[in-house]
Amino acid sequence: MTRTLTEDSRQIPVCADVDVAVCGGGPAGVGAALAAARMGASVMLLESQLCLGGQATSGMMNRLGPYHDQQEIILRGIPWEVVETLVQRDAAHLPAPCPHDVPDRYWVPFDPEALKVLLDEMIEQAGVEVLLQTLVTDVVMQGNELRGIVIENKSGRQAVLARCVVDGTGDADVAARAGAPCGKGRETDGLMQPMGLLSAVHNLDFAQSRAYTAAHFAELTDEARRLRSANGIAPDRVHRGTDNLLREDETYFNSSHAHGVDGTNARDITRVAIEARREIWRNLHFMKERVPGWESASLAATASLLGVRETRYIRGEYTLTLDDVMAGRNFDDGICRYACWIDTHGVVPGERPEHEGRPLQPGVSYAIPYRSLVPMQVENLLVAGRCFSGTHEARASARMIPACMAMGQAAGTAAALSVREALPPRELPIGLLRDHLLSQGVVL
Ligand SMILES: Cc1cc2nc3c(=O)[nH]c(=O)nc-3n(C[C@H](O)[C@H](O)[C@H](O)COP(=O)(O)OP(=O)(O)OC[C@H]3O[C@@H](n4cnc5c(N)ncnc54)[C@H](O)[C@@H]3O)c2cc1C
Repeated sequence: MTRTLTEDSRQIPVCADVDVAVCGGGPAGVGAALAAARMGASVMLLESQLCLGGQATSGMMNRLGPYHDQQEIILRGIPWEVVETLVQRDAAHLPAPCPHDVPDRYWVPFDPEALKVLLDEMIEQAGVEVLLQTLVTDVVMQGNELRGIVIENKSGRQAVLARCVVDGTGDADVAARAGAPCGKGRETDGLMQPMGLLSAVHNLDFAQSRAYTAAHFAELTDEARRLRSANGIAPDRVHRGTDNLLREDETYFNSSHAHGVDGTNARDITRVAIEARREIWRNLHFMKERVPGWESASLAATASLLGVRETRYIRGEYTLTLDDVMAGRNFDDGICRYACWIDTHGVVPGERPEHEGRPLQPGVSYAIPYRSLVPMQVENLLVAGRCFSGTHEARASARMIPACMAMGQAAGTAAALSVREALPPRELPIGLLRDHLLSQGVVL
């Protein structure tokens, strides 16, 4: 039985009273904060890391998901504004439609450090107040209405009161604490996609390395296995790095997949991070010794946020399904369009589910309905990003950075409208929301 301790009740300072509080400053949270502030709402954004961007920056993801349906651009609005500005700063490639099996162009390479600075600027210009290194730990409820959140940071424990809250934590932390019905992982067994840790290597001749590893990969893998059984230092799996890069002398590594772990469990997170760092270090030294092009290479950084693909999600007014995604279904309450294959990453090693890696047909994109951002049972709350309401496979497609930012834009716009119209988000006229999104350049 879990031992428990009863905390003393205590008074805590109210550090802000705003129209909209946005929890989590990843792609979804930033999209929401920007949209709500640009609608004239007073907004506070709370982020537990020291920068905005979530997995896109702290997680060191270096490729934005697709913006197109393989034939035309179908995602604009704030995510498009972000990528266009990065391109102007020589920090991304401009997304262009191409078949799904051309990874160098399907994914959009970008510089995570440039994104950190850009998001700071955009948030400041929109007039959002941000608190970094601030963890949202609890909720302020009045019956089933969310009235604010409790935060912890260097200034202590405080409350932020808000007329509407957007949960952009990726893990539906706020929704779960508020008592909204949530699920975890895939429907059949609750298992979640594997986690990993990204790292960056500099001073590498990637062209040489790519050519060599392509020709000798099986040989390198055998050698690593032999070394390991002889108690030598070798990686569990040889990593060759991603090849759609902005610069030829650096690469990012998406390190080994950790299966059967839970990104909302502190012990799992800790263990996976430590093991992944050790594996990254082994891989670096193995490659330096054996692969031409690595002679001067050094480890530039490991990510400060563990790469968590899937955890808790809300059960919303609508649950997006695999069938909706593959059929390119439209909804009257669609708030953006998206198109990416079913990126489930093998939940169980060796298992290959029927839909894993399945692409959409060229020219097919699906709508994400507003109802899938509206949790059941809790009022004054919207949820955006990878923890929106969808099945395991549907979330595996819509979890990409541009789609999460687009969901955030819709949630932030809806939150500001809900405050302005004095209506709960659940009762917001969908035509009003969609008109605002269209005027913001969103493709519906
Ligand atoms: C290994 C891996 C590779 C990927 N590759 C790609 C790719 O190539 N292209 C692509 O487009 N997408 C990729 N993705 C998916 C994408 O990065 C994420 O799904 C996306 O960033 C999710 O956005 P989000 O805003 O919902 O959540 P996140 O990016 O997870 O952001 C959530 C933010 O909330 C903060 N937070 C969490 N809890 C709290 C709390 N309680 N209080 C305060 N702050 C909190 C976190 O620090 C974080 O900044 C990848 C993901 C992983 C894990």
